[in-house]
Amino acid sequence: MAIEKMTEEEIREGVLKEFEKLAAIPRPSGHEKGVSDFLKGYLTELGYSVTQDSVYNLVADIPATKDCEKAPRTVLQGHMDMVCVAAHGVTYQPKTDPIRLKRTAEYLMAEGTSLGADDGIGVAEAIFLAKNSDSHGPLRIIFTVDEERGMEGAINLAAKNLEDVSYLINCDSENYDELTVGSAGIVDLTFRRELKRTPVTLPSAYTLSVKGLKGGHSGERIGDGRGNAIKALASALRALQEKGQVELISFAGGTARNAIPSTAKAVFATSLSAEEIQAVLKEEESRFLAKYGNAETGIDFVLEKTESEEDALIAGDAMRLFRLLSILHSGTYAMSTVIPGLVETSANLGVVTMEGDTVEVAFFPRSSVDAKVDDFRRYAKDVADLTGFTLEVGTQSPGWKENKSSNLAKIMTEVFEKQNGKPMKVASIHAGLECGWHLRKNPKLDMVSIGVTTLDIHSPKERLELKTIAPQVRLIDEALRRIATEKA
Ligand SMILES: [Zn+2]
Repeated sequence: MAIEKMTEEEIREGVLKEFEKLAAIPRPSGHEKGVSDFLKGYLTELGYSVTQDSVYNLVADIPATKDCEKAPRTVLQGHMDMVCVAAHGVTYQPKTDPIRLKRTAEYLMAEGTSLGADDGIGVAEAIFLAKNSDSHGPLRIIFTVDEERGMEGAINLAAKNLEDVSYLINCDSENYDELTVGSAGIVDLTFRRELKRTPVTLPSAYTLSVKGLKGGHSGERIGDGRGNAIKALASALRALQEKGQVELISFAGGTARNAIPSTAKAVFATSLSAEEIQAVLKEEESRFLAKYGNAETGIDFVLEKTESEEDALIAGDAMRLFRLLSILHSGTYAMSTVIPGLVETSANLGVVTMEGDTVEVAFFPRSSVDAKVDDFRRYAKDVADLTGFTLEVGTQSPGWKENKSSNLAKIMTEVFEKQNGKPMKVASIHAGLECGWHLRKNPKLDMVSIGVTTLDIHSPKERLELKTIAPQVRLIDEALRRIATEKA
């Protein structure tokens, strides 16, 4: 039956049936062979010509419907991998355990784990549309692997799969009424140093923890002006050094390079008394609130007396680390002068780890202007040289610059407004999307990114808003119909 004629329930349940098949197959990033093999078989059975590449990306070609053979080729794209996390106390083996679904009237979610709607629902709706759309030009499905860790699938996707394509709909966004038309470029940077240690000479050792900050995804929340727990802790230790002697024993904070760090912890020995330390921390607390009080509700410095057997860093290495953490910019760097309200360039000082004698600092700049990502990479190299660290430059992913004359964006917004009686929101985002890599392979690609509404992705609370499935499918179906009447 044509999607146009289906009820909301028929569309929703049809898409969810496809989603259930994916949920049954474990698919953490880097372990997509199982899901890729399954989909290869399934799409082949449906009669499409399917290719699987060496990293397990899948490309399936669906012939145009009758009389639409001359229309421009359109791609529906999603990623097969998911972020696998479990709630505290839940036993979960991501490589072997299926996702157990549960459902309320409003939401689909998982029992104690992330749901994988990011991006299983994008994959499911693409399959549903391929099976049921009754008026489309040449259609191609591209399902990538390993998006969540570093976009390895998109990086390795052969350019020939995009060279003959006019339009690409990326189904990896999170609000059904929002059209994403641009994303940021990013680069993975890691500072590293081998530390030298020396026996502790000062009388008392303490653990100092920073807690109570909001954190959040650096692609979504960096513009809010939130505090950084690593910076706050380094600042407090510097302030203590101004009052008395401090020997640093360990320092660690943050969880991921793309998450604003909400906690950090250091162990140090000092000549100061607990009262003297508390006085300094009190001052640091009010300094923190003066700087971040609009975005944070408070900061907790938790001081505990501790016994440490470990040697301290030599004074020079402690100073090198403090200087690095002080110099590295973390937060918004520039707002867009083209798109009002969009953070153009930012950097996140995301993680500090100290294991054995090696300290590593993860630093993660983003920008909608690729040349500014280049600038940050060079700045980081200079900072590394000046502070005595080495810099490892990881993957640099290109941004996706908004195309103001996008025909696809025009079609999508017109159809959405007609179908839903309200305008679709259109925005460039500060997060990264695979679209940046697609554009590098075919600079003429006309792309948008959309998605069914999902909340709290990458967490055990991840849930999908059921009523947004049908409007999303109808939007894509009608856009494909309009494209089908265009001449290539
Ligand atoms: Zn995703």
